[in-house]
Amino acid sequence: MLTGIAKLAHDGASLAHKAVVEYRTLPSRSLLNRCAGERMPFQWTINPYRGCEFGCKYCYARYTHEFMELRDPLDFERAIFAKDFDVRAFSRELRAVKPEDWIAIGTATDPYQPAERRYCLTRKVLEVFLRREGFQLAITTKSDLVARDAELLAAVAARNRVRVNMTVTTMDADLARMLEPMAPRPDLRLGALAALARAGVEVGVAASPVMPGINDGAASLEAVARAAQAVGAGHLWAQPVFLKACALAVFLPFLEERFPHLARAYRAHFARKSHIGGEYEARLRATVQALKNKYGLRRTAPAIPWGQMALAIEPGPSGSPETLAT
Ligand code: SF4
Repeated sequence: MLTGIAKLAHDGASLAHKAVVEYRTLPSRSLLNRCAGERMPFQWTINPYRGCEFGCKYCYARYTHEFMELRDPLDFERAIFAKDFDVRAFSRELRAVKPEDWIAIGTATDPYQPAERRYCLTRKVLEVFLRREGFQLAITTKSDLVARDAELLAAVAARNRVRVNMTVTTMDADLARMLEPMAPRPDLRLGALAALARAGVEVGVAASPVMPGINDGAASLEAVARAAQAVGAGHLWAQPVFLKACALAVFLPFLEERFPHLARAYRAHFARKSHIGGEYEARLRATVQALKNKYGLRRTAPAIPWGQMALAIEPGPSGSPETLAT
């Protein structure tokens, strides 16, 4: 029987809980994956890691762990795999890329999640492009760690086309903490984007996914657009949330806990469809277009799969591309 301070410690309420994350290696036949979907705005993907420690409640990429028979949706954020990287093999893979092709880095994982501090795989990939020219690269992240590579990205961009897209779903730090518990705060993300813009790298902001009743208010979207303009972003993008079974398994319990008044409507809608189209999507498109006009965020269209837009991506165990089309 516990007594004294031992009992007090045992009975104390948890203030915060950080899930234990395990890093593992993953032998990979290839780092560069051909994109299977014709509707995709990119032809190749590179995901240096499998899994993502940021643990966003709406993350659609959880399915990639199912290929490894890791079927608990939370495994995606607890077991992070760093892929093998061989410079020579990767350089050979690049021979298949045509000049007009886009390579999207970070479509089913965040390439600048905490694992990148240890393993530097994204940096190693980018270093290969230092010695190349004429490639088109689009990086998507929620991490301010990308600013570590500002000089490198600028050097790669001198002879290739490089876009960095920062996902900012809300400027409300408390809401962001709820939705994206382990990702850096929105202001840190934007600070990193500003550093990249100062270094001469083309940058944009993705406000996706937009979730009805959570971050879809006009004021919320406008706050993101205003902040994007302030850091020198050239484009803004937003799409409604996309939720397949593996994402719903995490998102619905989250709603029940944090937004119980929305849970029923979400449950009913996503039992029938995994995306939100129709009038809602049209209204959102119009709102975003108006914000792009107002804040001058329409320099370029994105060539990347911001968040929920298009899901391709990681090869299944057979090595063949698996696609979850929206
Ligand atoms: S949505 Fe992106 S950043 Fe969030 S957990 Fe998934 S892969 Fe990571």
